Amino acid sequence: MQYIICNFAAPDRAEMNFISNGDIRRAASMLAAAENVAIICHVHPDGDAMGSSLGLARYLTALGKRCGICLPSPAPRTLDFIFREGDCTTIDASLHKEQADGCILGADLAVCLDLPCIRRADGLEEAFRQARCPKLLIDHHLNPAREDFDLVFSVQDISSTCELLYHILQALPSCGVECSDGKAFPEPATDCLEALMTGMTTDSNNFANSTYPSTFEMASGCLSRGVDRDSIISHLQQEYREARFRLMGYFLSEKMRISDYGVAYAVLSAGELERFGTEEGETEGFVNIPLGIGAVKMSIFLREEGSVFRVSIRSKKGVSASRLAGESFNGGGHEQAAGGRLDIGPEIPDAAAAERYILEVTDRYFGK
Ligand code: 5GP
Ligand code: MN
Repeated sequence: MQYIICNFAAPDRAEMNFISNGDIRRAASMLAAAENVAIICHVHPDGDAMGSSLGLARYLTALGKRCGICLPSPAPRTLDFIFREGDCTTIDASLHKEQADGCILGADLAVCLDLPCIRRADGLEEAFRQARCPKLLIDHHLNPAREDFDLVFSVQDISSTCELLYHILQALPSCGVECSDGKAFPEPATDCLEALMTGMTTDSNNFANSTYPSTFEMASGCLSRGVDRDSIISHLQQEYREARFRLMGYFLSEKMRISDYGVAYAVLSAGELERFGTEEGETEGFVNIPLGIGAVKMSIFLREEGSVFRVSIRSKKGVSASRLAGESFNGGGHEQAAGGRLDIGPEIPDAAAAERYILEVTDRYFGK
């Protein structure tokens, strides 16, 4: 008997979409045996990375396990609302590397969330590789590095890691493996579901993309068990600072260009970001806006940060953002939502050079 997430899909899709009962039982055995769990997500954590990390931590904490969430870099302040009193320790490894390494090396289970390979956890890679404990991956990106893990849940036709984790947690109570002496795993509680619903909402852009029947199934399950969606939406969409919208106006009216091939692009320099007093997370969503223009097929947004330009790419169906990210921006991601980075150096010294580079690589990408 398989636990099927998408039993409505065409046979070839269903094939890709199931989680086997065997894998659920293996995950259950790993979770049951663990006392100290290190949870690791990707650098520049977004709603999905934070939501899945906190959701898992809340589920395991309720089972009496000790958890530590190791973030390779800080979470944006726009996600502060997601934390609750009583949540487990969250360690920002960019400030407290020794503590994060200690958490990973002292764990008897390491769970990586929302990353396909441990390189995406930046400075935490070394401790992760040194750790001798069992390792579990739950992710929705292409090409997971299976060799680095004892068990991998990888599904691409799904909204988010939060959704995948939801379906796994849902399957635990009836999987036949005991959580502790004679007891089955419990259903996830509302605080866990709230975190998962938050990450699913951000990764699906509030049900605008990557939304499957299983996504609505999850939403329905969360709402019927007390998750306050209105509150999540209000935290996510109605609590920004004014500075974000001033910058957004500047980005759209002064910075965005559209190439002959329908590529909208904009580069914000460190000076411009500073002028508007921009904080981490406050340009979230900018890259999606130009896709609202009929003639635009792809949107590329760069912002200068230290010695790199961080790159965000979004595309309409039929155009691969992840291929361009891989080929020209040292990155990757999903078919329609990808990212990467450009090093600032002799070849690309400033924002103007980055704009020229974008034009050059996208003209080549579409012109062929
Ligand atoms: P965002 O534009 O929201 O920062 O990132 C969109 C998606 O692109 C992420 O969910 C992630 O899958 C991918 N991504 C972003 N930055 C990088 C990167 O530096 N390397 C890789 N491999 N993927 C990235
Ligand atoms: Mn994600």
